[in-house]
Amino acid sequence: MKVLFNDFANDPIELREAQARAAKEVIDSGWYVLGPKVEQFESAWAQYCGVAGCAGVANGMDALEIILRCRKIGPGDEVITTGMTAFATVLAIMRVGATPVFADIDPDTALLDLVSAEAMITSKTRAIILVHLYGQMKHMRAWKALCDLKGIDLIEDCAQAHGAKEEGIGAGGWGVAGAYSFYPTKNLGCIGDGGAIVSNDRDLIVRAKQIRNYGQANRYEHVEFGLNSRLDEIQAAILLERLKFLDFFNFRRANIADAYRSTLENKYGVRLLERNPFSVCDVNHLFVICVNSPDAMIKELAASGIQALRHYPIPCWQQSALNGSVKSDYLSTLTHASSAISLPLNYNLDDIRLASMLRALDDVNWYQI
Ligand SMILES: *Cc1c(COP(=O)(O)O)cnc(C)c1O
Repeated sequence: MKVLFNDFANDPIELREAQARAAKEVIDSGWYVLGPKVEQFESAWAQYCGVAGCAGVANGMDALEIILRCRKIGPGDEVITTGMTAFATVLAIMRVGATPVFADIDPDTALLDLVSAEAMITSKTRAIILVHLYGQMKHMRAWKALCDLKGIDLIEDCAQAHGAKEEGIGAGGWGVAGAYSFYPTKNLGCIGDGGAIVSNDRDLIVRAKQIRNYGQANRYEHVEFGLNSRLDEIQAAILLERLKFLDFFNFRRANIADAYRSTLENKYGVRLLERNPFSVCDVNHLFVICVNSPDAMIKELAASGIQALRHYPIPCWQQSALNGSVKSDYLSTLTHASSAISLPLNYNLDDIRLASMLRALDDVNWYQI
């Protein structure tokens, strides 16, 4: 039996039909970019995240770049982040001309470590981009206190945390703004590229809407150098339909993660990440385990038809695009990069496939991995 990492073709029939109807409605409406569906989605997403406003943009990387621009962060400024993230987080910092500065992760969660990040703050530091990696939110009150104390911006990379909350405050509601990606594999995805900025700062949202559309304040009146980073009506219409399923999908992800945990808890040589006791603090974007030989494990699972991946095998500072310009060397990040593998955790994994997956995990010769 094949278990794919993502399996959109198996989306519930109700969802697939609703998406087709929504797309047809947009096509028939004759209005395709930044229109009523985008506005409707922006209000729905702001409300879901519990924030004052939302600006739809073209993707998650642009969302981060636009937030940095809104906060006037650029050349000469340093932005602290984690080496254990999608490289897009770092690219956004580079795109505004700022300098990425890395800090180590907490090995229990693979999230940015607060003590390590604090040690990297200098007079040039303008912001910390905190990534809610794998769907986890942790110690937000402490992060907010640290940034307030140091007078720097807390920016949330929420690309993996749709629906996550800590102390009742949603991802993106703690910092000056949060960046979401709706790439298909995210907890809330569209059928192409999409992204959003959420914030409690209404002025920031107004400015973000200006930047996403060539820096126009009014039509043909360009008050700053902007981008072309617009969300289109079909993606917004699809997102409105998929949003209705988000809580259900996150619930299913939590069930699957629990099943993995009970099967793997006492296996030799496997290390699980810390379990957050509050399900809303972890929306289980990925289920990551650490083993000695990740590639051997991926091969062994592939032999049983199971697709596993690695997030992320190379710390960002080691990416050759950076030409060694950013020197970092953090033990916890390096250890995680060389041991982490992600098991299939999509909401479409039905009970039969899940059972076969759990059996395959039971059959692995853990002493040899
Ligand atoms: C996916 C992702 C991004 C980038 O989003 P895109 O929509 O692909 O540009 C940024 N940060 C993290 C943590 C991500 O997982």
